[in-house]
Amino acid sequence: MTTPFNSYDGFEVWFLTGSQHLYGPETLAQVAEQSQGLVRTLGEASSVPVKLVWKPVLTGADEIRRAMLDANADDRVIGVITWMHTFSPAKMWIAGLQLLAKPLLHLHTQANVELPYGEIDFDFMNLNQAAHGDREFGYALTRLGVRRKTVVGHVTNPRVQERVGTWMRAAAGRHALATLKVARFGDNMRQVAVTEGDKTEAQAKLGVEVNTWGVNELTARVDAATDASISALVDDYVASYDVVPSLLPGGERHAALRDAAAIEVGLRSFLEEGGFGAFTDTFEDLGTLKQLPGLAVQRLMADGYGFGAEGDWKTAVLVHAASAMGIGLPGGASLMEDYTYDLVDGREAILGAHMLEVSPRLSSARASLEIHPLGIGGKDDPVRLVFSADPGPAVVVALADVRDRFRLTANVVDVVAPRAPLPHLPVGRAVWHPRPDFETSATAWLTAGAAHHTVMSTAVGLEAFEDLARMLGVELFTIDEHTRARDIENELRWSQAYWRLAEGL
Ligand code: MN
Repeated sequence: MTTPFNSYDGFEVWFLTGSQHLYGPETLAQVAEQSQGLVRTLGEASSVPVKLVWKPVLTGADEIRRAMLDANADDRVIGVITWMHTFSPAKMWIAGLQLLAKPLLHLHTQANVELPYGEIDFDFMNLNQAAHGDREFGYALTRLGVRRKTVVGHVTNPRVQERVGTWMRAAAGRHALATLKVARFGDNMRQVAVTEGDKTEAQAKLGVEVNTWGVNELTARVDAATDASISALVDDYVASYDVVPSLLPGGERHAALRDAAAIEVGLRSFLEEGGFGAFTDTFEDLGTLKQLPGLAVQRLMADGYGFGAEGDWKTAVLVHAASAMGIGLPGGASLMEDYTYDLVDGREAILGAHMLEVSPRLSSARASLEIHPLGIGGKDDPVRLVFSADPGPAVVVALADVRDRFRLTANVVDVVAPRAPLPHLPVGRAVWHPRPDFETSATAWLTAGAAHHTVMSTAVGLEAFEDLARMLGVELFTIDEHTRARDIENELRWSQAYWRLAEGL
């Protein structure tokens, strides 16, 4: 599996069916057959993106424990789904569940859709008793404090398929984090508070390795970029974007485009050779780089790399996780920053952007490749892709270190087309209405102490982040259409108390 991975090929989710010996071989054979059919239906659903693997029906504590250990040991397995087709006394599951180290989804379903009122007898009742088999299992999960997603309904129901699929995407995101190495070029922007954080705790909690390299290690690779590799990238740019005439070969600013291409060559080779899936830079520490990396960062994000500006490794981590969760879906994930507002009463909107580094995956239109001055950083004019994010639903998510833990804050938003052209704003940008409304959203965001840098995801929505947060055991404060202004402070207080208690001594 390369980093960053761009498909779920090679990943598996195991499907474990619970039963017991009491029913005899004939019934157990039916249980096996029906659960295989169920796995086939679910696995073939278009919204289920990861290979679903049926495992033999589990009827005793030893085999349950062994199945969990095998799932833990197999790097292909990113999660486990359980279903109690019949009654599976849950003490049998305790040892296995205590060992399980992969995300769990409890699927509460049954083989049949309709109740066969005319034919039903007690053999049918014996075979199809997930209604209470799963309740026994749910009791054990709750009693043991096992974090899991519960999905209820028949596997032919598109909503069930989608909820399972979203959980699989979150499991892929968790896997991406567990294997993520982040390269930081330079430290944080000086004096900035929210981009700081506990990198040791991040490794313990999220699985990510975050380390710093001197920018001279990057500039050495940029300087070593060959003319041929630069020319190949320039050809790619010309084929992929609407390049302004001055940047084209023969144009008066073409040298700046080649400088930008050299930065991309250097960055890519550093990231690929080191197995990094995310990176940060800072405009205060660019060494001999001729430009603040713009185009290169935008293209790397579009390829699934996480990125955070001004040394913001936490947002780089989020961008990578969101990319991993959204593989194969329209839209994408990008660094975003709440920049400025339209405060006209009744149409309040947020204009988000960054100095340069917004992923073109947020737009389905062909981006414009341009060069403009940048007041910050004291370098040559940087080359960048210019576009507006597509209208549609999205989520913005921030990760803050609130001293004793990490807190994710997520706001469901609706990206809209800018009300008017933005001819003098030469960056990738997005305009959105936050849910439930601007005033409540901004109040909640500020009260939560959430960051100004976020990941904007237009590929996966809130549910994927809810699933991911649960898998990671990280607090998630949600702002969406259900948020009421008067609940915000109390929810945050109660949540704070819960997480401090839950972390223990
Ligand atoms: Mn910033």
